[in-house]
Amino acid sequence: MSCSLCGSLACDSFFATNRHFFRCGDCGLVFVNSAEHISPLQELERYNHHNNSLQNQGYEKYLRHCFEVFASNWQRGESLLDFGSGKDGPLGKIAAALGFSCTSYDLFYQNDPMLLAKSFDGIFCLETCEHFRDPWQEFSLLHSMLKPGGAIAIRTEFLPLDFANWFYHRDPTHICFYSEATFSWLAKSLGFEILLCHAPFVLLKKI
Ligand SMILES: [Zn+2]
Repeated sequence: MSCSLCGSLACDSFFATNRHFFRCGDCGLVFVNSAEHISPLQELERYNHHNNSLQNQGYEKYLRHCFEVFASNWQRGESLLDFGSGKDGPLGKIAAALGFSCTSYDLFYQNDPMLLAKSFDGIFCLETCEHFRDPWQEFSLLHSMLKPGGAIAIRTEFLPLDFANWFYHRDPTHICFYSEATFSWLAKSLGFEILLCHAPFVLLKKI
């Protein structure tokens, strides 16, 4: 078993339910065996049932808070991208209401490959990296899409001490789980400065 982030073979069995979880001894990533990932079609069916629109007031409040945690890092007029925006790009609407311009990209709902060739001052990656099938490839792509000095704003739940009772691993679309050590490895390997790493938020600035 090799790590889906750093490629290390030093991965041990970590936990099992109906899926098998492994932990990398080098970067600390906990991940689900790729043979047990659900198919992209099954994944889409799950997302179609999410109520992640601004009609859902709880979700709007949550997203607005995420945006506000990071917003001071950018000026209005700088180019922002929401990577993994979901169906209606709600973060883009919240950003627009606050005077920012934030484009939406989503593998399933807003899949415009032209966007991936552009560069941005900031990229939001909110509740997205836990879905990455190939986290090294995805974070490398995000790094390549940042202007020098640009930053990625991440939100994901960090690995808890009590994994067995953690709700987050029960979602079949969640296949990668991170810790501070994993983000440190990622920053060092890709060339980021860590501006913030405090669960559940991470801000990585391209060096
Ligand atoms: Zn690893």
